[in-house]
Amino acid sequence: MSLDVPSVSLISNDRDDNTSTSSHQSEQGVSPTALAKWCDQYLQANAFKDYCPNGLQVDAQQPIRRIVTGVTACEALIDAAIEQNADALLVHHGYFWKGEPSALTGMKGRRIHKLMQHGISLLAYHLPLDAHRIIGNNAVLAAQLDLEITGGLYPEESHPVGNIATCAPISTSDFQSKLHRVLSRDPLVIFGSSEGADRQLQKIALCSGAAQDMIDQAALMGCDAFISGEISERTTHSARELGVDYFACGHHATERGGIKALGELIQRELLLEVSFTDIANPV
Ligand SMILES: [Zn+2]
Repeated sequence: MSLDVPSVSLISNDRDDNTSTSSHQSEQGVSPTALAKWCDQYLQANAFKDYCPNGLQVDAQQPIRRIVTGVTACEALIDAAIEQNADALLVHHGYFWKGEPSALTGMKGRRIHKLMQHGISLLAYHLPLDAHRIIGNNAVLAAQLDLEITGGLYPEESHPVGNIATCAPISTSDFQSKLHRVLSRDPLVIFGSSEGADRQLQKIALCSGAAQDMIDQAALMGCDAFISGEISERTTHSARELGVDYFACGHHATERGGIKALGELIQRELLLEVSFTDIANPV
């Protein structure tokens, strides 16, 4: 499948020279706004109504040659970026979430101060990175699990964040083992049927992160199972009463794939140095 990447000349738009992709690029770097423009275009960021701004969140106004990617822009990830001499941090969970205090004080102030002090720009992509059909969190997870995505969990959405997939019949217990292998983490399983671990699964919905309440929609769409990151007390009852096996695989664990894949794409296409840093998180 074509990656459909934006033309690299876009990168040169706000640079002095007008070279296309070359070793030039990795030496001179790209500006934070140009990198954000490229990512915005590739991820179709404007197509989403989100809970945070997608794109460039902190502009350190330094050319970007080296990027560190990670799930969340926590202080430990910033420290890792400083350690690796990065010019940019590219994450799935950035800052400025709807409803959070806007003042740059306390933890938030410290994080942003550290970024600015070390000339590190911050780019963040939330829903566009969950939903992307090739490098999105759900697309990557589905591929790793040998699931074939057949459509959106909410079929009316043009850029579905959750998906429905099919696979060769597999028992709940075998699928649990597969999730463990793929995510290096034991998923919490709530059985939705009296067959328990022996149930054969074929139609599976998935939505990374904190999408546990979409289990109702998974049931409505006739799915045997639903994979997400988090679980609430009520999710157990929903799984049992709706007849849908529920796999809580960890918010962090289900959202490593997208940002890692975006970083690898940038490395290939824009010839910048990119490395993924995993700040362990049991949730
Ligand atoms: Zn998330």
